[in-house]
Amino acid sequence: MIEIKQLEKAFGDHQVLKGIDLNIEKSKVMVIIGPSGSGKTTLLRCMNLLEMPTKGALRVGDFQMTFGEGNVPKQKDILSLRRKSGMVFQSYNLFPHKTVLQNIMEGPVIVQRKKQEEAEARALQLLDKVGLKEKAQAYPEQLSGGQQQRVGIARAMAVNPEVLLFDEPTSALDPELVGEVLGVMKELALEGMTMVVVTHEMKFASEVADQIVLLDQGKILEQGSPDDIFNHPKEERTKSFLSRLI
Ligand code: ADP
Repeated sequence: MIEIKQLEKAFGDHQVLKGIDLNIEKSKVMVIIGPSGSGKTTLLRCMNLLEMPTKGALRVGDFQMTFGEGNVPKQKDILSLRRKSGMVFQSYNLFPHKTVLQNIMEGPVIVQRKKQEEAEARALQLLDKVGLKEKAQAYPEQLSGGQQQRVGIARAMAVNPEVLLFDEPTSALDPELVGEVLGVMKELALEGMTMVVVTHEMKFASEVADQIVLLDQGKILEQGSPDDIFNHPKEERTKSFLSRLI
């Protein structure tokens, strides 16, 4: 579903990603972990070109692009890529002056030019899925953080993406609200959604991930199944990263 080759990203002369190779298969969940500042968010944002890679290649479904040497993607190509992926942000990013329903319908109506009735029916179906159908007419500020993030997930799903990208979706939440969001994510994973998740929630990673990737200083330090990473880490730096979490 996603193929990343020798991907690099620099901000000015600060080299943040230093040659990343990754493959994410359809219906699989990849969890990206690693110390703060290792480039996890930047890597995720490169996958839908919220950040423009400086070198390397990216394929998402039938979208393919090589970066560097003056290759600048066309706006049309960026939009076509973004339609394949839904992004869930740490800070929810809901429109405060729109209702929950309007927030979810925005993408399908404005970007995909779907009919109102069709978009509304789908939005209500998604709200039901995340357990918030009764909040359709509420405004974001009337919801808890956990509820807002569940709306964020419904909104990301509304454009029927081929892959969902999660950027630390629970790190802004009070601890007691984390579980409801992870529960929704787990359900989506069980239904076969392809997902890439940057998170510090190791229990979620061990239960839901097919592959775990440990980033360190802009490189992949180690990758494998949860059992490989948590129970049989090969690298000393993996062991020391994991030991600091306990
Ligand atoms: P992580 O998600 O692992 O904490 P990030 O991808 O957020 O790491 O950041 C990696 C590095 O890139 C950090 O040193 C950060 O300061 C830098 N960085 C991220 N975004 C930008 C930006 N827009 N401009 C300049 N530097 C950035």
